[in-house]
Amino acid sequence: MDHTALLVTIDGPAGAGKTTVSKMLAGRLGYRYLDTGALYRAVAVAAQGDGVAADDDQGLTRLCAALALRLDGERVFLSGEDVTDRLRAPEISLLASAVSARPVVRQTLFGIQRAIGQAGGVVAEGRDMGTVVFPEADVKFFLDASVRQRALRRFAQYGDGGPSLETIEQDIRRRDANDSHRDLAPLKPAADALIIDSSRISAADVVDRMMSRILPLIDGDTTGSGPRPD
Ligand code: C5P
Repeated sequence: MDHTALLVTIDGPAGAGKTTVSKMLAGRLGYRYLDTGALYRAVAVAAQGDGVAADDDQGLTRLCAALALRLDGERVFLSGEDVTDRLRAPEISLLASAVSARPVVRQTLFGIQRAIGQAGGVVAEGRDMGTVVFPEADVKFFLDASVRQRALRRFAQYGDGGPSLETIEQDIRRRDANDSHRDLAPLKPAADALIIDSSRISAADVVDRMMSRILPLIDGDTTGSGPRPD
């Protein structure tokens, strides 16, 4: 599909279904999908590799200055090495949440995210897409769901041998607290975001709801871009 290149943001807490929905929406629109959580996770992998603690600002500053981060579709490369398969480990989730509270990390990733999103034709998923990184976005969504529902989804994703439901729920609560109470870019809906609670509706229904907000903008623009009567 060839659509007007809108910039669409999807924010929300861990496990609300942002990734599934963002990928589906990007597919429907023919847009690029930008997973900004993967960027924070990549910084966490780099910090773990270099033995830099999340509260070591000097170490993080060095690490960010030398950060060679590249996205290729959904694959993430650090200094040429494909680290995609390491991004989802539970300890990386917590470390990503911790390093994401440090200003130097947010500043570094801010530039990378802006460079990708600015041209439009992007569905950007994260925590502060509509509030901080792309306040000018054309359409903003905030996807939420109950903690129990989010934990159940993660539990199903891990399958056999994964952490227990209680552990996952605890991790989610901890990350929610980190993400919502930090001074810098705390998790909250943008004033102009449409808030969708996905606890009781399917991903497909969430995407349909999003499309019904997006399509009028695309149609409106198509009409508006034609020759204007004087
Ligand atoms: O979305 P995901 O769970 O992959 O993100 C990992 C962590 O990165 C989050 O817990 C959050 O702390 C951080 N993050 C962020 N800002 C974003 C995206 C992710 O602070 N835009």
